[in-house]
Amino acid sequence: MTTIAGKRKIQKALLDWFDRDQRAMPWRQTGNPYPIWVSEIMLQQTQVQTVIPYFRRWMKTFPTLRKLARSRQETVLKHWEGLGYYSRARNLHRAAQQVVRKHQGKVPDTYEELIQLPGIGRYTAGAILSIAFGQPVPVVDGNVKRVLSRLFAISTNGVPSAHEKRLWETSAQLVPANRPGDFNQAMMELGATVCLPKKPLCLVCPLQPSCEARKRGEVEKFPKPRARPGIKKIEVSAAVITRNGKVFIQQRPHGGLMGGLWEFPGGKRQSKETEEECLKREIQEELGIAIAISKKMMTIKHSYTQFRVTLNVFWCPWQSGRIRATQCEQWKWVKYENLDHYTFPAANAKIVKILLNGHGTFK
Ligand code: SF4
Repeated sequence: MTTIAGKRKIQKALLDWFDRDQRAMPWRQTGNPYPIWVSEIMLQQTQVQTVIPYFRRWMKTFPTLRKLARSRQETVLKHWEGLGYYSRARNLHRAAQQVVRKHQGKVPDTYEELIQLPGIGRYTAGAILSIAFGQPVPVVDGNVKRVLSRLFAISTNGVPSAHEKRLWETSAQLVPANRPGDFNQAMMELGATVCLPKKPLCLVCPLQPSCEARKRGEVEKFPKPRARPGIKKIEVSAAVITRNGKVFIQQRPHGGLMGGLWEFPGGKRQSKETEEECLKREIQEELGIAIAISKKMMTIKHSYTQFRVTLNVFWCPWQSGRIRATQCEQWKWVKYENLDHYTFPAANAKIVKILLNGHGTFK
């Protein structure tokens, strides 16, 4: 890695820079492990500026871990709506209940206990232990990976597991006993604001004198880019079934993808099916009723990380038949104006927004 003197030089340069240039963030004004934990979960996959208003709203509604543990899952998911990756919210909720049950409501301060909680992996455990409890434990997220790879010109010939291992080892050797939480946050902050993936701002970087990739003039070579899998495209037909001013919605099974969220019934179009044929088949399979399609209401396109969905939405005024919904957690007829009391996945939330703006047309 580097000599002890080299290590100290890096630690000092980074902490001085952090003291001077760190961005103000609401979770940085506390040593309480609960808000720090919440912020770390929200920041996974989501930008700081997006997270800040969600974090503030969350802490207002669930100011303590016990309050979160006592809350209904529906309320928890509603506060996450728009952040995506809802399993993060479900796990946080379950983990809070587990902390109340097993740890008398106190966030544990050992790696072994933290890692047992739903949604807490090596990264989050490291962040909580170093930031909230001042323990010299490493953290490695996407930003830290980039900084370390460049700082020490770490290349493991493209073997991802070996690369990952080297980065964790390097981070563990570098984190100081004094101010480990600030040091870890500074590393992440440097990656987010200075050591950018493209065109890093080396001229203003506090680590420039120590940076091996910079010395070699090979900054762009580190880290080696990973091959990304192709993005899948799927096409879905969905039904807005209406009856006496109410709309049918169903809740996705708790254990699966986007579990616990509400949606309009429907499903994936198979090859050789028309959009309408797909919808009739799906509704028959999901709800056990035949529907008549009145008209196409809208087409919605939405990109998730791993796939792109095209949602063809049809208006289907209620005809007859007894609903036997077997593939959902529960179902409801809901007044239009109450639709926004429920949490929908992003693509379905777009349907809700349009319905709320013009529902008189589809009663
Ligand atoms: S000198 Fe440039 S490449 Fe090296 S750590 Fe700083 S910003 Fe990143």
